[in-house]
Amino acid sequence: MTQPARPEPANGFGPGRGIGKPQAPAPEPLPAAAFDAHCHLDMIDMAVADTLAHAAAAGITRVVTVGVDVPSSRWSAECAAAFPAVSAAVAIHPNETTAAATTAAGREAALADIARLASLPQVRAVGETGLDYYWHDAPPQLQRDLFRAHIDIAKQVGKPLMIHDRDAHADVLTTLAADGPPDQVIFHCYSGDAEMAQRCAEAGYVLSFAGTVTFANAGALREAAAVTPPELILAETDAPYLTPVPSRGRSNAPAQVAHTVRALAAVKQLDVAKFCAILAATGERVFGFSAAAGPDERQQGERQQGERQHGEPLHGQRQQGERQQGERQQGERQHGEPWLA
Ligand SMILES: [Zn+2]
Repeated sequence: MTQPARPEPANGFGPGRGIGKPQAPAPEPLPAAAFDAHCHLDMIDMAVADTLAHAAAAGITRVVTVGVDVPSSRWSAECAAAFPAVSAAVAIHPNETTAAATTAAGREAALADIARLASLPQVRAVGETGLDYYWHDAPPQLQRDLFRAHIDIAKQVGKPLMIHDRDAHADVLTTLAADGPPDQVIFHCYSGDAEMAQRCAEAGYVLSFAGTVTFANAGALREAAAVTPPELILAETDAPYLTPVPSRGRSNAPAQVAHTVRALAAVKQLDVAKFCAILAATGERVFGFSAAAGPDERQQGERQQGERQHGEPLHGQRQQGERQQGERQQGERQHGEPWLA
């Protein structure tokens, strides 16, 4: 796992297109390590190495970068292979289901690509997938079909399902119950109320709160967080979007999740360091990594996850490192085309 700490941007991990807003100022560092459970590193107007350095300075030692279509999912997997602090999630976003393919055969091919990426060791979740009845970018039936296909992929690869649910709470919960949820389900950028949060908690679903929980008018979201058991809570940025208070109006980045972690700790009436430790345990349980750890301990987590998933005895770190190297090279062969077109 010897990767250069600061690859040249020419390697494909330079600044993304951004959202035309200045970067948010650095937050006060957290007293203990935490992580960003959902962001889009490819959309942030900063080289990935710099984004990660800023995050680490705030106590954010790892991030999950999320794909929304096949090219961005491929990019996320490659980014996670290149940077030990990065894990990936891969899927076709509900709003991208029309754009992803125009034919049934095209959709099958795209889903096969997602399934192949989802099986890579550095990919820790299948998402973001789900239903979006707000934007009307794709017919609901098509969204449901692809959501169900992603539920199936998550079960096949034994990884968490990361859900995008916008104005579709009832249909998301119904679809999950009907098909049977994977072992781990994460509601990314949770947007339901306290009653739905209780239903989710009963099902064991994890609620990932974004910067929206810090907004002045988000009393209902804070009530939802208040009734959610702390071990079913994650914190995320969805960067470059949804920048938390006090940095609203700026471009979001993983470092900013420190504000959201503090806000959630306040809602839960927990000491911030204690809450970070709970988040770390949740990250280990859900994503299979030791959230409070640096890259070395993540390799430990990967080894443990590998043992759980494949049941094969692994013979020490050196051989494991060689195996990961081989998988990475195989990934590069399979997905060798440029991913930042
Ligand atoms: Zn997102």
